[in-house]
Amino acid sequence: MTQANHHKVFIIGSGPAGYTAGLYTARADLSPYMATGVQPGGQLTTTTDVENYPGFPEGVMGPEMMVLFEKQAVRFGLEVVYKMVEKVDLSVRPFRLWEDDGTEHTADSVIVATGATAKYLNIPGEQEYLGRGVSACATCDGFFFRDQELVVVGGGDTAMEEAHFLTKFASKVYVIHRRDTLRASKIMQERAMANDKIEFLWETVVTEVKGDDKGVVGVELLDLKTDERRHLPVAGYFSAIGHKPNTDLFKGILEMDDVGYLKVDAPGTSTTIEGVFAAGDVADPIYRQAITAAGMGCAAAIDAERWLEDQA
Ligand code: FAD
Ligand code: NAP
Repeated sequence: MTQANHHKVFIIGSGPAGYTAGLYTARADLSPYMATGVQPGGQLTTTTDVENYPGFPEGVMGPEMMVLFEKQAVRFGLEVVYKMVEKVDLSVRPFRLWEDDGTEHTADSVIVATGATAKYLNIPGEQEYLGRGVSACATCDGFFFRDQELVVVGGGDTAMEEAHFLTKFASKVYVIHRRDTLRASKIMQERAMANDKIEFLWETVVTEVKGDDKGVVGVELLDLKTDERRHLPVAGYFSAIGHKPNTDLFKGILEMDDVGYLKVDAPGTSTTIEGVFAAGDVADPIYRQAITAAGMGCAAAIDAERWLEDQA
């Protein structure tokens, strides 16, 4: 183990949470180290316009914004490597972490910012039209569908919330659910059902997303009761069947909820292991926005800095 492989702060993940934690810990003279993982820049590199991140009045392309995040943090001394963390041992201090090429590191503190991944149905056309009519974030992309018809897939709270939100813009929202009863909480169901712009298609599944060179033009549906297939013309397809936090690395090590989100001692960012902090979508089942992830990244950096100071 060389001294270069020991860090005061090791940041896992390079989305808005990771880079903000990097910026703050770098400016606190903690010489942070970051492993970006397989998606440098995080989820926003998979989208086009980001119109709700403050400071960009004309909007900004997701990938471009994440390059700016990186530049700003690197300018103050964040060390970035384009590797994945494959294994961690958080039972000893300093903590031990291994990258995918086998390199071992030790760290006095760790900030986990590994994000979450929206679940998709994995049907033909879905990945092809991602960002061109296919989305998993109504707050992010709803605005682009003014006066158009959309589908939302799912029957949980997320689907109800997304569908309701989308009716602010869309002329009509079809909620497509595979069963005849919703999983969503009663209050969310009632709100969605009272919304004139929402139509439920029960016991129905989407089998394919259709598009042209401009984006989504419709979906292929299968009615599970009648076996009837039909084409539904829509301009957008929103997957709302849940998110999977990227926490496999920490199973049996850090405490998580039933879905796999890391537990933190809100309003702070401490996980169940002292010296290990979590920020962004990996610990946030509710807001899941770039700005909230960045905010938590800042909080985790400040928490780590204060904790390290207390150890000295
Ligand atoms: P992420 O951005 O998910 O980044 C996680 C990082 O962790 C990645 O860099 C990944 O490589 C890394 N990682 C994972 N596992 C490992 C590992 N084992 N080792 C090392 N690194 C690892 N939000 C908005 O506010 N506005 C929008 O317009 C908007 N549009 C969106 C469009 C799309 C298509 C999607 C999917 C999301 C959108 N969001 C938007 C949500 C936003 O992208 C997320 O809330 C935000 O990116 C969360 O940031 P994060 O830093 O927590 O994690
Ligand atoms: P969820 O409760 O797990 O619901 C997922 C929905 O997607 C279910 O209706 C499920 O169908 C459907 N689904 C899953 N896989 C599918 C597939 N392959 N094909 C078709 N449909 C599929 O997930 P969620 O709605 O994201 O909610 C997650 C948690 O966050 C919940 O605890 C929820 O209460 C909470 N949440 C709360 C709020 C709020 O209070 N404002 C908002 C959003 C989320 P089945 O019903 O048939 O399984």
